Amino acid sequence: MMLPAFRGVEAVRDIEGLTNPRGFILVDRHQQNGKYPNVFAVGVCVAIAPTGKTPVPVGVPKTGFMIESMVTATAKNIAKLVRGEKPNAEGTWNAVCLADFGDGGIAFVAQPQIPPRNVNWSSQGKWVHAAKIGFEKYFLHKIKSGMAEPFYEKLALQVLGIDKLKAVKFDD
Ligand SMILES: Cc1cc2nc3c(=O)[nH]c(=O)nc-3n(C[C@H](O)[C@H](O)[C@H](O)COP(=O)(O)OP(=O)(O)OC[C@H]3O[C@@H](n4cnc5c(N)ncnc54)[C@H](O)[C@@H]3O)c2cc1C
Repeated sequence: MMLPAFRGVEAVRDIEGLTNPRGFILVDRHQQNGKYPNVFAVGVCVAIAPTGKTPVPVGVPKTGFMIESMVTATAKNIAKLVRGEKPNAEGTWNAVCLADFGDGGIAFVAQPQIPPRNVNWSSQGKWVHAAKIGFEKYFLHKIKSGMAEPFYEKLALQVLGIDKLKAVKFDD
Protein backbone atom coordinates (compact mmCIF):
# COMPACT_ATOMS: atom_id res chain seq x y z
CA MET A 1 0.00 0.00 0.00
CA MET A 2 1.41 3.38 -1.00
CA LEU A 3 0.23 6.49 0.80
CA PRO A 4 1.20 10.12 0.28
CA ALA A 5 3.60 11.16 3.04
CA PHE A 6 1.85 12.57 6.10
CA ARG A 7 2.48 16.16 7.09
CA GLY A 8 1.26 18.54 9.77
CA VAL A 9 -1.64 20.96 9.29
CA GLU A 10 -1.01 24.33 7.63
CA ALA A 11 -1.94 26.32 10.76
CA VAL A 12 1.23 25.25 12.56
CA ARG A 13 3.58 24.40 9.69
CA ASP A 14 6.84 26.42 9.44
CA ILE A 15 6.69 27.82 12.98
CA GLU A 16 10.33 27.71 14.08
CA GLY A 17 10.77 25.64 17.22
CA LEU A 18 7.18 24.37 17.22
CA THR A 19 7.27 21.96 14.30
CA ASN A 20 9.77 19.86 12.38
CA PRO A 21 10.21 20.40 8.60
CA ARG A 22 7.19 18.12 7.91
CA GLY A 23 4.96 20.20 10.20
CA PHE A 24 4.77 17.72 13.11
CA ILE A 25 4.83 19.16 16.62
CA LEU A 26 8.13 18.82 18.52
CA VAL A 27 7.65 17.58 22.07
CA ASP A 28 9.82 16.31 24.90
CA ARG A 29 9.11 13.18 26.97
CA HIS A 30 6.39 15.11 28.84
CA GLN A 31 4.55 15.86 25.55
CA GLN A 32 5.56 19.53 25.97
CA ASN A 33 7.10 21.76 23.31
CA GLY A 34 10.51 23.18 24.29
CA LYS A 35 10.09 26.68 22.79
CA TYR A 36 6.40 27.14 23.62
CA PRO A 37 5.96 25.45 27.03
CA ASN A 38 2.22 26.16 27.04
CA VAL A 39 1.89 23.88 23.99
CA PHE A 40 1.46 20.13 24.48
CA ALA A 41 0.81 17.72 21.63
CA VAL A 42 -0.68 14.23 21.46
CA GLY A 43 -1.41 11.77 18.68
CA VAL A 44 -0.62 11.70 15.01
CA CYS A 45 0.55 15.35 14.97
CA VAL A 46 3.55 14.55 17.22
CA ALA A 47 7.01 14.50 15.59
CA ILE A 48 8.62 11.09 16.19
CA ALA A 49 12.02 10.44 14.66
CA PRO A 50 12.26 7.35 12.40
CA THR A 51 13.80 4.37 14.18
CA GLY A 52 16.24 3.73 11.33
CA LYS A 53 17.04 4.27 7.65
CA THR A 54 14.75 2.57 5.08
CA PRO A 55 15.02 2.53 1.25
CA VAL A 56 11.69 4.40 1.08
CA PRO A 57 11.14 6.93 3.88
CA VAL A 58 8.42 5.74 6.26
CA GLY A 59 6.74 7.29 9.27
CA VAL A 60 6.56 5.79 12.74
CA PRO A 61 3.11 4.23 13.31
CA LYS A 62 0.98 5.88 15.96
CA THR A 63 -1.79 3.77 17.43
CA GLY A 64 -4.75 4.33 19.71
CA PHE A 65 -3.47 3.08 23.07
CA MET A 66 -0.12 4.77 22.51
CA ILE A 67 -1.98 8.03 22.00
CA GLU A 68 -4.13 7.42 25.11
CA SER A 69 -0.89 7.15 27.07
CA MET A 70 0.27 10.51 25.62
CA VAL A 71 -3.10 12.05 26.57
CA THR A 72 -2.93 10.69 30.15
CA ALA A 73 0.57 12.14 30.60
CA THR A 74 -0.46 15.47 29.06
CA ALA A 75 -3.55 15.84 31.30
CA LYS A 76 -1.41 15.19 34.38
CA ASN A 77 1.29 17.58 33.18
CA ILE A 78 -1.14 20.43 32.42
CA ALA A 79 -2.63 19.96 35.92
CA LYS A 80 0.91 20.25 37.31
CA LEU A 81 1.54 23.47 35.33
CA VAL A 82 -1.73 24.95 36.61
CA ARG A 83 -0.57 24.17 40.18
CA GLY A 84 2.76 25.92 39.43
CA GLU A 85 4.69 22.61 39.44
CA LYS A 86 7.03 21.06 36.87
CA PRO A 87 5.54 18.52 34.43
CA ASN A 88 6.86 15.03 35.22
CA ALA A 89 4.37 12.53 33.79
CA GLU A 90 5.61 10.44 30.89
CA GLY A 91 3.45 8.21 28.66
CA THR A 92 4.61 4.65 28.08
CA TRP A 93 3.75 4.80 24.35
CA ASN A 94 2.74 1.15 24.61
CA ALA A 95 0.74 -0.38 21.74
CA VAL A 96 -2.23 -2.68 22.34
CA CYS A 97 -4.08 -3.30 19.12
CA LEU A 98 -6.88 -5.35 17.59
CA ALA A 99 -6.36 -4.95 13.83
CA ASP A 100 -9.55 -6.08 12.06
CA PHE A 101 -9.16 -7.57 8.57
CA GLY A 102 -12.89 -8.12 7.97
CA ASP A 103 -13.20 -11.86 8.63
CA GLY A 104 -10.12 -12.25 10.83
CA GLY A 105 -7.39 -10.07 12.22
CA ILE A 106 -4.25 -9.67 14.26
CA ALA A 107 -3.95 -8.73 17.91
CA PHE A 108 -0.67 -7.44 19.25
CA VAL A 109 0.97 -5.94 22.30
CA ALA A 110 4.22 -4.01 21.81
CA GLN A 111 5.74 -2.43 24.91
CA PRO A 112 6.89 0.16 24.11
CA GLN A 113 5.68 0.52 20.52
CA ILE A 114 9.02 1.94 19.39
CA PRO A 115 11.87 -0.60 19.77
CA PRO A 116 13.81 -1.72 21.77
CA ARG A 117 10.84 -3.50 23.33
CA ASN A 118 10.23 -5.27 26.61
CA VAL A 119 7.14 -7.12 25.33
CA ASN A 120 6.42 -8.42 21.82
CA TRP A 121 3.24 -10.49 21.53
CA SER A 122 0.86 -11.19 18.65
CA SER A 123 -1.91 -13.58 17.74
CA GLN A 124 -4.25 -13.94 14.78
CA GLY A 125 -7.56 -15.51 13.87
CA LYS A 126 -11.29 -15.02 13.54
CA TRP A 127 -11.49 -14.24 17.26
CA VAL A 128 -9.80 -10.87 16.62
CA HIS A 129 -12.65 -9.80 14.29
CA ALA A 130 -15.21 -10.78 16.96
CA ALA A 131 -13.14 -9.11 19.69
CA LYS A 132 -12.95 -5.86 17.68
CA ILE A 133 -16.76 -5.78 17.31
CA GLY A 134 -17.09 -6.40 21.05
CA PHE A 135 -14.50 -3.74 21.84
CA GLU A 136 -16.24 -1.18 19.61
CA LYS A 137 -19.53 -1.71 21.45
CA TYR A 138 -17.78 -1.53 24.84
CA PHE A 139 -15.78 1.59 23.87
CA LEU A 140 -18.78 3.54 22.53
CA HIS A 141 -20.84 2.59 25.58
CA LYS A 142 -18.21 3.77 28.05
CA ILE A 143 -17.62 7.05 26.20
CA LYS A 144 -21.39 7.71 25.89
CA SER A 145 -21.73 7.13 29.62
CA GLY A 146 -18.89 9.58 30.33
CA MET A 147 -16.54 6.93 31.77
CA ALA A 148 -13.19 7.28 30.04
CA GLU A 149 -11.45 4.73 32.26
CA PRO A 150 -13.77 2.52 34.36
CA PHE A 151 -12.11 0.78 37.32
CA TYR A 152 -12.53 -2.69 35.75
CA GLU A 153 -10.62 -1.57 32.63
CA LYS A 154 -7.84 -0.14 34.79
CA LEU A 155 -7.78 -3.36 36.82
CA ALA A 156 -7.66 -5.59 33.69
CA LEU A 157 -4.77 -3.57 32.22
CA GLN A 158 -2.96 -3.64 35.57
CA VAL A 159 -3.30 -7.44 35.73
CA LEU A 160 -1.93 -7.68 32.16
CA GLY A 161 0.97 -5.34 33.10
CA ILE A 162 -0.02 -2.75 30.47
CA ASP A 163 0.49 0.79 31.82
CA LYS A 164 -0.24 4.20 30.35
CA LEU A 165 2.28 6.08 32.50
CA LYS A 166 5.92 5.38 33.22
CA ALA A 167 7.00 5.32 36.84
CA VAL A 168 8.05 8.85 37.85
CA LYS A 169 11.81 9.18 38.30
CA PHE A 170 13.13 10.72 41.52
CA ASP A 171 15.00 13.52 39.71
CA ASP A 172 11.75 14.72 38.05
C1 LIG B 1 -7.18 2.77 8.52
C2 LIG B 1 -6.64 2.93 9.90
C3 LIG B 1 -6.78 1.89 10.81
C4 LIG B 1 -6.30 2.02 12.10
N1 LIG B 1 -6.47 0.99 12.97
C5 LIG B 1 -6.05 1.12 14.23
C6 LIG B 1 -6.27 0.07 15.18
O1 LIG B 1 -6.84 -0.98 14.87
N2 LIG B 1 -5.82 0.25 16.43
C7 LIG B 1 -5.17 1.38 16.80
O2 LIG B 1 -4.79 1.49 17.96
N3 LIG B 1 -4.95 2.40 15.94
C8 LIG B 1 -5.38 2.29 14.66
N4 LIG B 1 -5.17 3.30 13.77
C9 LIG B 1 -4.46 4.48 14.21
C10 LIG B 1 -5.40 5.42 15.00
O3 LIG B 1 -6.64 5.47 14.36
C11 LIG B 1 -4.80 6.79 15.01
O4 LIG B 1 -3.50 6.67 15.55
C12 LIG B 1 -5.63 7.74 15.88
O5 LIG B 1 -6.94 7.85 15.42
C13 LIG B 1 -4.99 9.10 15.85
O6 LIG B 1 -5.69 9.94 16.72
P1 LIG B 1 -5.46 11.49 16.66
O7 LIG B 1 -6.46 12.07 17.63
O8 LIG B 1 -4.03 11.84 16.84
O9 LIG B 1 -5.81 11.92 15.17
P2 LIG B 1 -7.18 11.75 14.36
O10 LIG B 1 -8.03 10.65 14.91
O11 LIG B 1 -6.77 11.71 12.92
O12 LIG B 1 -7.91 13.12 14.69
C14 LIG B 1 -7.49 14.34 14.13
C15 LIG B 1 -8.73 15.20 13.96
O13 LIG B 1 -8.33 16.53 13.60
C16 LIG B 1 -9.19 16.98 12.59
N5 LIG B 1 -8.48 18.02 11.85
C17 LIG B 1 -7.49 17.88 10.91
N6 LIG B 1 -7.09 19.08 10.47
C18 LIG B 1 -7.79 20.02 11.13
C19 LIG B 1 -7.82 21.44 11.12
N7 LIG B 1 -7.01 22.16 10.34
N8 LIG B 1 -8.69 22.05 11.95
C20 LIG B 1 -9.50 21.34 12.76
N9 LIG B 1 -9.52 20.00 12.82
C21 LIG B 1 -8.67 19.35 12.02
C22 LIG B 1 -9.52 15.76 11.76
O14 LIG B 1 -10.72 15.94 11.05
C23 LIG B 1 -9.66 14.69 12.86
O15 LIG B 1 -10.95 14.61 13.39
C24 LIG B 1 -5.65 3.21 12.49
C25 LIG B 1 -5.52 4.25 11.58
C26 LIG B 1 -6.00 4.13 10.30
C27 LIG B 1 -5.84 5.27 9.33
